[in-house]
Amino acid sequence: MKTTYFNICLLGIVLSSFYHCTPSPSPNEPQAKQVSLIETHHQVTDLKIATLSTMLANRGIGEWGYAALVEADGRQLLFDTGQRPETVLKNAEELGFDLHEVEDVFLSHNHGDHTGGLLSLREKLKVLNPKAMSRVHVGKGIFAQRINGGNRMQEMKQQLEADGVEIIIYEKPTELFPGVWITGPVERIHDEKNYGQGGRIYTEDGEIVDNIPEDQSLAINTDKGFVVLAGCGHAGIINTLDYVKSTIQDKNIFAVVGGFHLVSASDEHLAWTAKHLQDFDVEKIVGAHCTGLHALYSLKESLALSREDAVVGSVGDYFDLKDGIHAGIIAR
Ligand SMILES: [Zn+2]
Ligand SMILES: [Zn+2]
Repeated sequence: MKTTYFNICLLGIVLSSFYHCTPSPSPNEPQAKQVSLIETHHQVTDLKIATLSTMLANRGIGEWGYAALVEADGRQLLFDTGQRPETVLKNAEELGFDLHEVEDVFLSHNHGDHTGGLLSLREKLKVLNPKAMSRVHVGKGIFAQRINGGNRMQEMKQQLEADGVEIIIYEKPTELFPGVWITGPVERIHDEKNYGQGGRIYTEDGEIVDNIPEDQSLAINTDKGFVVLAGCGHAGIINTLDYVKSTIQDKNIFAVVGGFHLVSASDEHLAWTAKHLQDFDVEKIVGAHCTGLHALYSLKESLALSREDAVVGSVGDYFDLKDGIHAGIIAR
């Protein structure tokens, strides 16, 4: 534990003075553990992932953004927070989800379409529960100084910390709840380049293309295989799945959910992606946000999945480990 936090702190200090590290969580809080090649293989048996922000909406509001509520064996986590301040709050209310008891927020990366709702969520929900949205889990690099386009996360960090929110920075796969893993930044072994080429970032080695180094996903270990939830897929969905298999456990990927950033991918790249998804034995896909409609249908065809098993994500839909995908009306 101490080594872990020490490493995180050390790297944080090197990269940016904006990093804040907490030596160890208080005794009542879930203790994130870090293991090298992982020895704990706890499997989640009850899992539900409900979409709260994406382009399509069956009920509530659609927007360019992403957010989902994850419920794993009774533990809750908000995965990303949508773009507009009110989207997730309004959609949760309309869909009947009470977010007051959600204390943990996962941010896939710094972009505003995933982080825009965080401050208003904290503001509204803390009134009834001061612990609501009080722990924010981010990947190393999220506060790095962007040269063009800025990085609102730096300002947001100050506001959140002033409000008592703990920000926890990850650099390695880490088990947050039993069987629920935060990947931390993903090794880019394939050249997927799922990010814009215009951004620049300052590092200790000078100025480099902003490849969104902090981009992280959630990997939930279940008896059917991993369920992997991606925000915008900037690290590349295949890189992410390879990383999950090589660092957490070498087993099949049962389902992929979220944004995979294939909206502008060539047919050649989609075919390459499909081939790899097939190799991972992917059986279910919810392609939301930046996955792209053509990309989703192309993957569906290439993997010979049924219309129930490969759907476009929409607000109000959900993935259930037992029953599969409950698609929105628009996506059936
Ligand atoms: Zn993004
Ligand atoms: Zn996005």
